[in-house]
Amino acid sequence: MRADLIIHSSPQLLTIKGGRQRGESFGELNIIEDGALAIGGENIIGVGKSQLIRQQFKAQHEINARGKILMPGFVDPHTHLVWVGDRAAEFEQRIAGASYMQIMKAGGGIMGTVMKTRAASIEEMIASAQPRMDRMLRYGTTTAEAKSGYGLDTTSELKILETIMRLQNESALELTPTFLGAHAIPSEFSDDPQAYADLVSQEMLPAVHAWWLQNFPEEALPFNDVFCEEGAFTLAQSKQIMDAAMHLGFPLKIHADEFAALGGTRLAVDLAAVSADHLVSTPADEIRALGKSGTIAVSLPCTPFGLSAEAYTPASAILEAGGCLAIATDLNPGTAWCESMQFSIALACRYLRITPAQAIVAATINAAAAISHDDRIGSMEEGKQADVLILDIDDYRHLGYRFGTNLVTTVIKKGKVVISDDEHH
Ligand SMILES: [Zn+2]
Repeated sequence: MRADLIIHSSPQLLTIKGGRQRGESFGELNIIEDGALAIGGENIIGVGKSQLIRQQFKAQHEINARGKILMPGFVDPHTHLVWVGDRAAEFEQRIAGASYMQIMKAGGGIMGTVMKTRAASIEEMIASAQPRMDRMLRYGTTTAEAKSGYGLDTTSELKILETIMRLQNESALELTPTFLGAHAIPSEFSDDPQAYADLVSQEMLPAVHAWWLQNFPEEALPFNDVFCEEGAFTLAQSKQIMDAAMHLGFPLKIHADEFAALGGTRLAVDLAAVSADHLVSTPADEIRALGKSGTIAVSLPCTPFGLSAEAYTPASAILEAGGCLAIATDLNPGTAWCESMQFSIALACRYLRITPAQAIVAATINAAAAISHDDRIGSMEEGKQADVLILDIDDYRHLGYRFGTNLVTTVIKKGKVVISDDEHH
């Protein structure tokens, strides 16, 4: 059979086949030694031993992956990709002792980013986000979720969603959009936060819904996300907004238990949210409920790291409860400006105390499940999209073990080589 590209002779081809992994079965990489991959068009058409694949397929282009592992592209299921400006000064204040909440209550933090983002044109937002997308791709992320949430009024939120959709044409990195109008209470509503919650549920959500149907009638609705936290949205307001979103058909996500345990994880389970993210202070009974549910637990280890905080997601409790764990970067200007899933893996191994194999599963197939794309990406199986990485390591455990440098040498997106440090093809 004809293939467009064959990659062969990899000492470890991590297939990560068999679907999302939870509880005790979490961490199965299904490795093929001396593995090869055949790609036809945008898809994987063969996976197996090098000898077998090279007998079965003939291709114009071949890549010799001797000494290098092959794996599916990373999926980053939680990012705040689109913003303008930076918060370097705030970082400096924070390491001098000010807390995230102190900075937010003093009117700093997120509103600074919101003001700059509101004032920016779509072209300016694209120019700001695109270098981040390039870095993500270079570090091996082939699909990422991207949230709105630095607009906090109807016009600005729609402008950010439009930017996310336009960015898809500017980079090989594939984006899955999320509406996060409920990211923070904007300062003009600080005396009446409920009025803003009402605005999100009664005006913004219907406006996003109508805009989406008009512009992307063929595509599934974006996710709706809510930041359920002290100083952001109460449990009741989160429920109000999620109920309204669900009523319009939006699939759900939630930021829950980053600092205070308000009941957000229970709410996510009750409303069958696709994912509940952060999960640092989640109480034991809610972890048990989460473990029995279809909601994916998305841990964001770059965030406590970015805040020099001590508490991370209780991964072992989530897994003991049978939960499905994914990791993401939480890429954002306030707490975690990090484009690298490799770094997230390194942190997850140390602070979530999961093995490199488990962290890799959390960053691929389970991360794909957290954005409902595990049928198409997140593993290397026949029929799946050819999103593939070649890494300059011959043992997958170097992921996690090593940190701070880029181990990815080649990135293939939808069958095309989009990043390559390698001359052998
Ligand atoms: Zn977030």
